[in-house]
Amino acid sequence: MDTNEQRIKIAVQKNGRLTDHSLDLLERCGLKFTQSKDQLFCFGENMPIDLLLVRDDDIPGLVSDDVCDLGIVGLNVVEEKRLSRQQEGREALFDRVFDLDFGQCRLSIAAPDGTPYDGIETLKNSTIATSYTGLLRDFLESRRIDASIEYFSGAVEIAPKLGKADFICDLVSTGSTLAANGLSEVEVLLQSEAVIIQTRAPLLGDKQALVDRILQRLDGVLQVQESKYIMLHAPRHALDRIRELLPGSEAPTVIPLEGTNDKVAVHAVCRENVFWETLENLKAAGASSLLVLPVEKMLA
Ligand code: ATP
Ligand code: ZN
Repeated sequence: MDTNEQRIKIAVQKNGRLTDHSLDLLERCGLKFTQSKDQLFCFGENMPIDLLLVRDDDIPGLVSDDVCDLGIVGLNVVEEKRLSRQQEGREALFDRVFDLDFGQCRLSIAAPDGTPYDGIETLKNSTIATSYTGLLRDFLESRRIDASIEYFSGAVEIAPKLGKADFICDLVSTGSTLAANGLSEVEVLLQSEAVIIQTRAPLLGDKQALVDRILQRLDGVLQVQESKYIMLHAPRHALDRIRELLPGSEAPTVIPLEGTNDKVAVHAVCRENVFWETLENLKAAGASSLLVLPVEKMLA
């Protein structure tokens, strides 16, 4: 039976920095979708898994309220929701399942260039503009800094120029937006990346098994991104050294080579990228006929 209640719903950002990566990740898990006319809903064609396309800020709430079973969203948005609910005396009913290795950025406090900054005490009695009031309040309280928080829904970086704040607290990735607005980073509150969250509401029927299946595929896709399959020939006596040099590989397969006693073929899955330096070091240790191949799928 494939009623609506038995389909998994995943909340994904509709239009923004996380959208393409999120959809690409789900496609690499083997999921196929058709998008509705209003473009807010993607129907899962080959598995009972649908997508709800929404603003990223709405994703933690939709998962907490069990409208969606899973959500893909920045840790900054997840933590902001968790802390702002906590500060209102409520609990956010979702769990972070794992990190997805894209959408990296950090939430930082920045000061207008030329502002004397002598550590966190400098923030005392100042005004800080942000859209992340929950995270900022938590940061200031944990460090016993008394400062006022000015809520800005966007364009936070112009607050000091408007005379509305002494500092800002906003997302930074390269720092070029800060520099363009004459601001410099002084404190980092949170390192963020896209994460997957799951509702705490119990999943009925076959839904938990389906969620586990999709999470296992996601895990496989993430591992494969960095993984390489490496093949080489090596003298037997150099095997220990070669095993040491293979990056992130647990148990390489060692195969005797036809017609020789002292040479073997080594095959290994390396769970890290293999750089030219590594290949050069392997060659210096006696390896030859080195071949590095991408890994397409992996199931632990
Ligand atoms: P929405 O319309 O969905 O509310 P938005 O404008 O809030 O979109 P985006 O700018 O698309 O959101 O950013 C989405 C997420 O991308 C952020 O919450 C953050 O996790 C991540 N991100 C990565 N780098 C940056 C950056 N330099 N600035 C802002 N967000 C970034
Ligand atoms: Zn947003």
